Amino acid sequence: MERWDAIIVGAGPAGCAAAYDLAAAGRAVLLVDKAEFPRHKACAGGLTRKSLRALRYSVAPVVRETVSSIVVESRAGEIATLASRRSVCVMTVRQELDDYCLKQTLAKGAQFARIGPITGIEVTSDSVTIKTAERRFQGRFLVGADGVHSRVRQLLDGESPHWFRRGFALEAKVYRQEGAESKLVFDFGPVQQGYGWVFPKHDHLNVGLGVYNDAGREKVDRPRLLAYIRDRFGEARVEHVTGQFLGFGAERAQSERARVFLAGDAGGFADALTGEGIYGAIASGQAAGAAIEGALRGREGAQQAFAKLTTQLRQDLALSASGARWFYGNLDLGYRALTTPVFRAAVINAYANGTKIGALANAIRRFAKVFATSA
Ligand SMILES: Cc1cc2nc3c(=O)[nH]c(=O)nc-3n(C[C@H](O)[C@H](O)[C@H](O)COP(=O)(O)OP(=O)(O)OC[C@H]3O[C@@H](n4cnc5c(N)ncnc54)[C@H](O)[C@@H]3O)c2cc1C
Repeated sequence: MERWDAIIVGAGPAGCAAAYDLAAAGRAVLLVDKAEFPRHKACAGGLTRKSLRALRYSVAPVVRETVSSIVVESRAGEIATLASRRSVCVMTVRQELDDYCLKQTLAKGAQFARIGPITGIEVTSDSVTIKTAERRFQGRFLVGADGVHSRVRQLLDGESPHWFRRGFALEAKVYRQEGAESKLVFDFGPVQQGYGWVFPKHDHLNVGLGVYNDAGREKVDRPRLLAYIRDRFGEARVEHVTGQFLGFGAERAQSERARVFLAGDAGGFADALTGEGIYGAIASGQAAGAAIEGALRGREGAQQAFAKLTTQLRQDLALSASGARWFYGNLDLGYRALTTPVFRAAVINAYANGTKIGALANAIRRFAKVFATSA
């Protein structure tokens, strides 16, 4: 049986982030995935400034557009532009981004294996073994970075542990006439507990509907998305309608396990206010990598280190979760406050930098209450 310092299940942003750092530290790392890369992943592929900063390498070769302003639209059809002097985020296509990140990770020395369904996980005091019908892999540590439906989480904690919550988003590729204007849009009109979006990708638009709590799930389906696209763009070529859940709730998760970590959507590290999950995936993957590296060097327990390294991230996610409850429950008021001149610059910078967007949402909530009673 092969034995590794760390086995990482899932080669998306979370898994690659963990594997990259461990491989860079000279560890024997095995990254396994059920898919052959490049593979499709339902995702609008927007990387904020904070995600770009967190990555260990430039992703310039797979950037399709750079965006420095965001158009926000209300249910009543109001439109406001939040502009920044600096770029706010870059647009990528996930298939290209993930393939690129995997190549960077393998170039650092991580090994990759495509695996069949995981049938079992065995944890002992000094190792973790994952089993498939054909093979067994043993490592000193295991990172479950296998996305929202994580098999690792399922086998160790059950399908839906109490802290785990899901959102859902559905997207499509929309092709318009050459030269048609394309802006990044968040539209708070089409769904109640989330938003519609338009993300420009140079030769096409990624258009979607997302809801960030379970209650809104049934409001997002293919006919609704196609109707939304028709309303916005008239007759346009639409391809590849795909959906996926997102994983939230890391702020409430607790683990006593010494050798297994959940990162990215598997561990609920997506932001419930914005639906952004790539940053949380990268940051939690890197935290898992650093915790494992520390333990391999004989420092403190890896799980305590992981908890410490993700403290700030989990606090921010908690603020986002409470901000989201208020914002999506009071969309009209929230929109008015969000587009008030005093908040515009702060909102776009918080989104880009990740400087406590949830804290800002809570500040807006306090402000909006004053605004509502004085109006
Ligand atoms: C429609 C949509 C749009 C989104 N848009 C954005 C956006 O613009 N910006 C943003 O920041 N976030 C966005 N998100 C969220 C973002 O896609 C996720 O949060 C992010 O991909 C999580 O990364 P991850 O590495 O945890 O998981 P994933 O990216 O899901 O990667 C998991 C990997 O694990 C593999 N895997 C799964 N199960 C197994 C198994 N049993 N065995 C082996 N391998 C397995 C999969 O093949 C995959 O490669 C969007 C989500 C959706 C659904």
